[in-house]
Amino acid sequence: MITVVGSYNVDLEVKVDRFPSPSETVFSRELLVLHGGKGSNQAVSASRLEGRVQLVAAVGDDDYGTKAISFLESENVGTRYVRVKRARTGTAIVVVDREGENMIIVDRGANALLEPADLGDSLEYTDVLLTQLEVSEEVVKKALIECVDCIRILNPAPAILRDVNLLRHADVVTPNEVEAKQLTSASTVVDAANSLLRLVRYAVVVTLGESGALVVTRRGTSKVPTLRVRAVDTTGAGDVFNSALAVMLDKGHDLEEAVKFANLAAAVSTTTVGALGPRMEEIEEYVRS
Ligand code: ADP
Repeated sequence: MITVVGSYNVDLEVKVDRFPSPSETVFSRELLVLHGGKGSNQAVSASRLEGRVQLVAAVGDDDYGTKAISFLESENVGTRYVRVKRARTGTAIVVVDREGENMIIVDRGANALLEPADLGDSLEYTDVLLTQLEVSEEVVKKALIECVDCIRILNPAPAILRDVNLLRHADVVTPNEVEAKQLTSASTVVDAANSLLRLVRYAVVVTLGESGALVVTRRGTSKVPTLRVRAVDTTGAGDVFNSALAVMLDKGHDLEEAVKFANLAAAVSTTTVGALGPRMEEIEEYVRS
């Protein structure tokens, strides 16, 4: 069983011709209301890849919260530990211009109220723990420490950490290139990965966009290429990568096999619009075609 501990946000995405200046009003071309948040995205994507998944998260006691729970259920994600708080559901306001540049403001809402106690006994039957940094560090830390017999993956996104010693409790840490450098102030990815490896138990996997991923363990460093695809939307590629990694490690594959598949799933996810990942049969179909 994979347990994802993380955020749920409703994403309010508006498309504009250009960003407004301060005090200016612009009209949007379209408003989309989408399910988001790294925790939810990773849990749903892992479930679509046939993982058995539950999510520990917090939503608000509003309409968005109710819809979030039905959505997760419709995607076969266990919601027993999705807590309903007296608050608004976390909301991300995403403004996208014609060039695809975006500006994002996040109101953390209920996500900020997720507490260590909310983990309950969710980790009891967990084989793989997957967590990120959109909920409080205390929650992430407790989950990592409590999950003694599982493989613990920490996707350090966003790369804002009060105490880097949190990484000491993770087996595998999966930053993208920017996050790896932010966490270490190293100037190259290899230096950043090696510096993170000093803290992490087993491996650092840095995702490199269209260049795939860099895997660094104490036995050595290897670069794992990804598929060449016609990418139309790379939003959420990192989330799909992490979910696929969790699914493969849960099935008992070794890290190298898991990273190869994670690259494949993430690459396929960039060929369609949206942050959520492909289903297993969509990946098989892509590979066949
Ligand atoms: P993030 O989405 O967190 O910024 P990356 O950009 O590193 O993370 O992408 C995560 C993974 O998605 C990569 O390791 C790769 O497997 C896949 N990916 C991203 N962009 C592309 C692309 N243009 N072509 C193929 N694969 C991609």
